[in-house]
Amino acid sequence: MPAPGPDVLVGIGDDVAVLRDGPDQVWLATCDVQVEGAHFLRNAITPVDLGRKSLAINLSDIASAGGSPKFALISLGLPDDLPVEFIDGLYRGLRSEAEHFGTEIVGGNISGSKFGLFIDIFLLGKASRENYLLRSGAQVGDQILVTGTIGDAAAGVALLQTPPSVADAAYAEVARSRLNTPTPRVQEGRLIGESHLATAMIDVSDGLAGDLGHICERSNVGVRLEANKLPVAAANRSLAQIVHGDEWHFALHGGEDYELLFTAPKAHAMELSSRINQATGTPVSIIGEVLPQEESRQLVLPAGQVVPLATFGWDHFKEKA
Ligand SMILES: [Mg+2]
Repeated sequence: MPAPGPDVLVGIGDDVAVLRDGPDQVWLATCDVQVEGAHFLRNAITPVDLGRKSLAINLSDIASAGGSPKFALISLGLPDDLPVEFIDGLYRGLRSEAEHFGTEIVGGNISGSKFGLFIDIFLLGKASRENYLLRSGAQVGDQILVTGTIGDAAAGVALLQTPPSVADAAYAEVARSRLNTPTPRVQEGRLIGESHLATAMIDVSDGLAGDLGHICERSNVGVRLEANKLPVAAANRSLAQIVHGDEWHFALHGGEDYELLFTAPKAHAMELSSRINQATGTPVSIIGEVLPQEESRQLVLPAGQVVPLATFGWDHFKEKA
């Protein structure tokens, strides 16, 4: 592949490509496709939710760079048997999510599909050149922070596959809604970028451990995560114990949380966390610390035992195959 030109500040390998726009601004570009059978099951999500989620996962990548989403192009592959009402619902979901996050749908394409429904979205966002954040930049001694709660969407997938008798009914509802209608942390991401207090950021799409691994690779650092500081519902831990024999499995190796995972110097981590919480209502947890690369990736269990942090990722519906 030829070397990127001077206007490509960041190319392949981060959540977004960063493209120069004059001296002070950058475009952030990302795309993501949702494929029936691989990413969703048509009978397990409403068309409106599917529309919302397809855009939300792209919005989350712009959020993870600290940017503001602006313009979306949407390509749809529609199977012959897809009812018109389903397509209407899908558009309603796409439009409402776009409107909610100040994004304009400016074009796209429609094709027939012989292999199920797919929704492919290209999204452009903006940021000022001094505000955007990447996976690289984490420094030894930084604290690791995460918004919201983690592991719920993975529990939602497990509940599609496991008899509901094992789960707490109220939590099952939370897990399903986190799977089908994730909230991209756009306002939170922008605040984190504007604060100039954070050093690196990514969104949690493939599982906390795997995505933290991406920060480690790009920043050349190690990490220590504290299991008892992870924002995980008790019902999530008991379901993970039943399904995987490990109460931390969904939290560490589940995917599709679409929370923001970021690092900040120790002196600023608490301040940043409360600033975001006060402005948005979203909880932020400090879950660990950045270590020198040679100390690798560690997980401290609640009893104090330190184990290697495995970083295998998330494979949607193939997880249990
Ligand atoms: Mg991402």
